[in-house]
Amino acid sequence: MSSSLSFDPALADIPAGHFIGGQLLADGEQIAVHAPSSGAVVGHIPAGSADIVDQAVRRAAHAQATSGWATCAPRERARVIRRWAQLVEEHAGELARLESFCSTRPIAETTAWDVPFTAEGMRFFAEYADKLGGDVAATQSDLLGMTIAEPYGVIGAIAPWNFPLVMGSWKVLPALVAGNGVVLKPSEMTPFSAVLLARLGEQAGLPAGLFNVVQGAGSVVGAALSQHPLVGKLTFTGSTRTGIAVMQAAAQSGPKPVTLELGGKSPQVVYQDITCVDTVAARIFRAFTGNAGQVCVTGSRLIVHEKVAAPLIERIATLAGQVRPGPTWDGNAAYAPIISPPQAQRIEDIVSRACAAGAQQAVPMRRLLPDSGGVFLSPAVLTNVTMQNVAVREEIFGPVLTVQTFREEEEAMMLAEHPEYGLAAGVHTADLGRAMRAVRRLKAGTVWVNRYGRSADFVIPTGGFGGSGLGKDLGRQAVEANLRHKSVLISFEG
Ligand code: NAD
Repeated sequence: MSSSLSFDPALADIPAGHFIGGQLLADGEQIAVHAPSSGAVVGHIPAGSADIVDQAVRRAAHAQATSGWATCAPRERARVIRRWAQLVEEHAGELARLESFCSTRPIAETTAWDVPFTAEGMRFFAEYADKLGGDVAATQSDLLGMTIAEPYGVIGAIAPWNFPLVMGSWKVLPALVAGNGVVLKPSEMTPFSAVLLARLGEQAGLPAGLFNVVQGAGSVVGAALSQHPLVGKLTFTGSTRTGIAVMQAAAQSGPKPVTLELGGKSPQVVYQDITCVDTVAARIFRAFTGNAGQVCVTGSRLIVHEKVAAPLIERIATLAGQVRPGPTWDGNAAYAPIISPPQAQRIEDIVSRACAAGAQQAVPMRRLLPDSGGVFLSPAVLTNVTMQNVAVREEIFGPVLTVQTFREEEEAMMLAEHPEYGLAAGVHTADLGRAMRAVRRLKAGTVWVNRYGRSADFVIPTGGFGGSGLGKDLGRQAVEANLRHKSVLISFEG
């Protein structure tokens, strides 16, 4: 096995703890954190408890109420956040390494995308600090009506493991820009980059205690955060099952509003008029193999016109043979490991069950780099499936593409509709009219036409319909969701 599969010693100084009131707290029972690329234990975090969550929430509430963060000129908040983005860029190498070694994100990608994208997102949100106010109505001569946009106080943010820094920052930044304090709970599998982010925030001038990070198991620490009575609003990204539990906790401990970014099973519809099979095949391929399919918006269901199905699958099969797996800390690696052995087993089980129910492996799934200690699964393509097949129905969160063919536009739209999820969809056609008919028809929070995946246009929000979630990350909507409006009527009569 290549020596590059050994663990990178430059990562020895890992910020492993809760970050509360500017202090790193790491006492008590510990949870081991593994590198998915090698299976090695790369650090520990404290197991956390309801008590530590309570401490973090109270610190955030105190800082939010007393530091002047919510009441200062909004451009002051923007200035701190811009400085913070600058610090993120200055620590880009460290953040990119921290982000990649315990997650599935190859270092080349965390360097080129995750960290710069995080910093750019921070600047985007900073610009909203002084742009969202209330309304004024002065229609009656003796009366002035207005709404005042106010922060909730403390926002509880819960993030997943697949893009820890990007997803976490999309929760934290709009909440802070709106004047709130925040308690962030990262995934226990990818806990480190959040702590460095918080430290850099305090260096940039965030009041101590305004943004705290708590570590530990979701069922203990995430649940305690969701249930905490001083948390005014929750923002969650993760699976649909956990999102429902978070919403139930929000109802019982409030009720309080929730933003939920949940799972998906997104279709990619390819029409017979595409002008270049190779270009579309490359797009479809990236959309289901990026991060080895461990992306909420993975384009996992190909709905393709029968005339172009065969050449498209053939080209995808060729691309599947060219992936470059490797440990995430190897700069040449371009294909991600699966986050954990149980998750890899689950993916393989779904493929087996799908085949037992009649699916054929047009491109079979294999284990790559068997001596690495991690699990790398090659991309798989399954044909001969219907919506009843487990591989079409369930979110797999792995590099699996199912293929269904159609003849008529209407048939394509019916196949594209999933009974539970509505996160994203792709439409690939040279006919703008056809594309717009699909855009209007598809039940998805985002529809991409002749591309798949978001761009750096942060003003376009992201969020799902139905079982894929409630509310939006990014865009003006994400900041607005962290404000509540107080209505005021002032009579001039004295
Ligand atoms: P998960 O639901 O298992 O965990 C998400 C977070 O919730 C983690 O921090 C976890 O510790 C915490 N958690 C677990 N149980 C909890 C509980 N009872 N109460 C409160 N918090 C709890 O999801 P995951 O495996 O980390 O992430 C993968 C899932 O996330 C996939 O379903 C994926 O589609 C989804 N996702 C969605 C988006 C989106 O924008 N829609 C983005 C990324 C990931």
